Amino acid sequence: MSATPLHVVKVGGAVVENPAELEAFLDGFAALDGAKILVHGGGRTATEVAGRLGVPTRMVAGRRVTDPGMLRVVTMVYAGLVNKTVIASLGKRGVRALGLCGADLDCIRGQRRPPVDMPGEGMVDFGCVGDVTSVQADAFAGILADGAVPVVAPLIHDGEGNLLNTNADTIASKVAAGLAAAGYAVTLTFCFEKPGVLSDPSDDSSVIPVIDPAGFERLLAEGTVSGGMVPKLTGAFSSLKAGVAEVVITSASALRGGTRIIP
Ligand code: ADP
Repeated sequence: MSATPLHVVKVGGAVVENPAELEAFLDGFAALDGAKILVHGGGRTATEVAGRLGVPTRMVAGRRVTDPGMLRVVTMVYAGLVNKTVIASLGKRGVRALGLCGADLDCIRGQRRPPVDMPGEGMVDFGCVGDVTSVQADAFAGILADGAVPVVAPLIHDGEGNLLNTNADTIASKVAAGLAAAGYAVTLTFCFEKPGVLSDPSDDSSVIPVIDPAGFERLLAEGTVSGGMVPKLTGAFSSLKAGVAEVVITSASALRGGTRIIP
């Protein structure tokens, strides 16, 4: 029997937080044939809501320090406002979607990250931030078998009652790997506001069509890829190693073309 094709799509914060771009993306996502899972970000809204609530935002090397106050904000924003906005928009398109974070159905577990030595910053405790340790493929498979679309907010749990904030690109990579291990033929697509990985980040026509591990090392060393692109590429290579069939980084409005990541 051939493996069931599955699309795992990650959509970035800048897209979900711009109503026109979100609508264009969801048109394309709704039109994808077959089984699919959506993972979303939402960091900019979290920063805005935190500001309104008087919770200070601290970012170190592009990553959010998540103290208990910030965890409350990201839980409200990611698993509440952003997730339900996406679900309602999918419903308008006839897509039956089910919103989840990693604690729902115990679908994604992790452990709290210990303090890390950050260049120029010393030891940084990122707080309630987690690294994924397991994905329950069965939980996702059950939803897919019901013909529904899981929509995942970027929070996981430790099984001891604690929620943990986690990078959405990493979650998408781990979910894709977990479902590949369970026998699906997985295509992982990272969608964001640019047309792919660019050789000149200020020039949208400079899309790099294919990146392999040696190319990634070179782009990192040159500083051509940085910030939020690094977890996408790291996750792309680790998911390929774990059996994901295809990985693409592309524009949220096109959902095709862009940069193909190869082992
Ligand atoms: P998202 O919420 O979509 O994951 P991120 O901000 O985490 O967004 O990551 C995408 C960002 O990565 C882009 O907005 C861009 O600023 C940055 N980036 C760094 N290097 C590159 C590159 N070579 N090509 C494209 N984008 C890049």
